[in-house]
Amino acid sequence: MAILEIKNLIVSVEDKIILNGINLTVKGGETHAVMGPNGTGKSTLAQVVMGHPKYTIESGDILLDGISLKDKTVDERSRAGLFLAMQNPVEVPGVTNFDFVKTAVQAHLPKGQHLRIGKFILQMEDAAKDLKMGTGLAHRFLNEGFSGGEKKRNEILQMKMIRPKIAFLDEIDSGLDVDALRIVGENVTAMKSPDLGMVLITHYQRLLDSIVPDVVHIMIRGQIVKTGGRELIAKVDADGYDWLKTELGIDTLEEEQPKPVALGTCATRKTLH
Ligand code: ADP
Ligand code: MG
Repeated sequence: MAILEIKNLIVSVEDKIILNGINLTVKGGETHAVMGPNGTGKSTLAQVVMGHPKYTIESGDILLDGISLKDKTVDERSRAGLFLAMQNPVEVPGVTNFDFVKTAVQAHLPKGQHLRIGKFILQMEDAAKDLKMGTGLAHRFLNEGFSGGEKKRNEILQMKMIRPKIAFLDEIDSGLDVDALRIVGENVTAMKSPDLGMVLITHYQRLLDSIVPDVVHIMIRGQIVKTGGRELIAKVDADGYDWLKTELGIDTLEEEQPKPVALGTCATRKTLH
């Protein structure tokens, strides 16, 4: 059973602290939800775990099965069992969906082991059918011209084929109509197993009605300020996040926390102008 441990994680981007001491442990078999207002750092958390080079880890660590991921590349993290279904999946003209998934699945096999192409094709067809994607999508360029809903379903298709140990699903519900949401919900729920730990990032209760989490976290200004059960989802749905301001003794949910600038840096900058 996999275990992902995020410990006291402080992360900055372009001199601004975005994550301010995140602690989160996700084990195989568990489904966590992370909710929070826009701009609070939810996508940053998912991207940092996956190894996006844009972000700087100031301190803290991310461990998968006890091994630090800090110095691992994105592909190493993926092969170790991590997966991210992106909030805004990228379009890759020139690479077919089929080739992309085939290459990804091949890359996850142990060294020297080759993909059995016949079995792979059947599995991919089944996965596409489960997601009501239509067979033509496999031969179109990756995400190019896909609707928002198709892109999101395509992320789930990849997840079904790659079979990660720990998956972050970043706003997988955005851009989905009610039917597509139900299909994604059913497919993700069917993947639940002791071999898969999940983190669902979302604003909305409706996703968490179809993929039921075990634990719910609320993230505000780069920190997990509350962890509880499903009662938190109903509370957020009814009242939003404003009630947390009083509870946390803060004036605004959006306040930025600039990184302290050393005097020396100011002096250097001045001389440049
Ligand atoms: P969420 O997913 O919770 O909406 P994000 O993680 O996308 O939030 O963003 C958190 C904060 O980080 C926002 O204030 C956003 O403007 C900032 N941020 C993200 N990427 C960058 C970047 N490349 N440069 C500057 N600020 C960034
Ligand atoms: Mg986001």
